[in-house]
Amino acid sequence: MTQQVLSGLGVGLEAVTAEVFRVRQAEPLPIPAKHSGDVAAEQAKLRKAVDEVSSELEILAEKAGETSAEIFEALGMILLDESLFDASVAQLDDGWEAGTAFVNAMETFAELLSGDPTFEERIADIRDLAKRVAANIHGISLGLDLPETGKFVIVGEDFSPADTAQFTSAVVGVITIQGGPTSHTAIICRSKSIPAVVSCSGAKELKDGQMVLVDPVGDRVVIGGTAADATKAISFVAKSTEPVIPVRSNIGSLEDAVAAAATAAEGVGLFRTELLYLSASTEPTLERQIQSYTEILTACPEGPIVVRTIDAGSDKPVPFLKMPDEENPALGVRGFRLVRDHRDFIVSQLEALEAARKASGREVWVMAPMVATAGEAKEFASLAKAAGQFKVGIMVETPSIVYEISKLKGVVDFISVGTNDLSQYLFASDRMNPNLGAMLNPWQPALIASLNQIAIESKKAGIYSGVCGESGSDPAFAVVLAGMGYDSVSSSRSQVGAVRSALSSVTHDEAREVFEAAISGHDSDEAKSLALTKLGEIAK
Ligand code: PEP
Ligand code: MG
Repeated sequence: MTQQVLSGLGVGLEAVTAEVFRVRQAEPLPIPAKHSGDVAAEQAKLRKAVDEVSSELEILAEKAGETSAEIFEALGMILLDESLFDASVAQLDDGWEAGTAFVNAMETFAELLSGDPTFEERIADIRDLAKRVAANIHGISLGLDLPETGKFVIVGEDFSPADTAQFTSAVVGVITIQGGPTSHTAIICRSKSIPAVVSCSGAKELKDGQMVLVDPVGDRVVIGGTAADATKAISFVAKSTEPVIPVRSNIGSLEDAVAAAATAAEGVGLFRTELLYLSASTEPTLERQIQSYTEILTACPEGPIVVRTIDAGSDKPVPFLKMPDEENPALGVRGFRLVRDHRDFIVSQLEALEAARKASGREVWVMAPMVATAGEAKEFASLAKAAGQFKVGIMVETPSIVYEISKLKGVVDFISVGTNDLSQYLFASDRMNPNLGAMLNPWQPALIASLNQIAIESKKAGIYSGVCGESGSDPAFAVVLAGMGYDSVSSSRSQVGAVRSALSSVTHDEAREVFEAAISGHDSDEAKSLALTKLGEIAK
């Protein structure tokens, strides 16, 4: 068979060959319509659809994580409310066909609730429910519909965090037409060890059933390719059983914590708490938070656990936290800026974390995302210190805070660099824009220079420094970070082993040489190839 190569940006180190499954775009619902006069038949259709959607919700609740299950259960209860069914039957009597009748009845219900802030979040759920039932009646697909069995490489424009939560075990590879190396699809695929190629514009042409090789190390998809065509990852020769700096794991759920504990990770360098709440339309209570954080902290790999307070906004909307409508959300109210309107929630997270820290007996560090000024860092530090016994830190994700690190002496105990956002803001390049993937490459000389400056400034200020962005999941780049003087890196859990072997193959001085080679590069390709050449020389 002739092979055709599509280039993109690889995520992961393992290649996979499987059949293409193109994810369907959600189809629009038909416009409101009247039925032909058979009310009984319409009523039977409606009853069948309600029953089927109710079973779908039960299955979704079982599959969903602990926090999302509640939502599906609440939706199921609304759906089975007989007064709503009666209201739909009244619409059937008025001549509307089953789907339209249900949507109309739900809309009247939603309007009754609108204006009452307590029910604000329920309204979106009610409309979503109406859509699910109408789609079932009309045999319309509302989106992913992923296969449950077999092995497939799924292909789509890009996947939202809520989409990735629906990945089944049949998804063995992922290709996105859009999205960059730091998009959430990339982050989730790395953490679930699913080989992916993102930002692959040629994938538009892929057809269902075609066999493809997803070759992340080669940054490509090969149509008709086999395992033998996969590009080999660089192999490191261990000098020591211990890496030159500790390698922690990034997590976002209980499942991640359990899986990270099975790796050689020394603790957790980034617990993304917002990932617990991406589909939560109601705010979790303090008790609920204490319960989930305690379970997660208890399951984490041994070592310190760095927990990030909620990083909602921009590409990570959290339904129960209302955000202002903004022209440019990536430059808007996100991360720690939520303290303006949602201070109580951040404080409740810190209180719940303190209770979970005591209950689990673990060492907990807390940090705030998207801090742009030393003033914000001080504000977070005082909230965190008032709430509990934590090491307190901030993420370095904006260029502005790099210039204020010296002012953080005595304010924070540590900093952790989020290179995904730091690249986005340093290069003014939207991390979701597929055309700008090259700017978000960690080997960009300006990012390397900026990371070096951060390492130097934090050393001078006596502040512990780590890196938890995706760049810390690239084994060779992790060596560069160790060479700059970072105290630890935190990698996606699937990369912990590879990053540890890279960091166990060099001494501190050698890591420094690899960094010096990389920083002399004039572009990202040259920086990477100089670093790899140096690593090759060291391995001899
Ligand atoms: C980062 O920006 O590098 C980071 C770790 O945070 P997130 O990817 O969750 O925005
Ligand atoms: Mg970030």
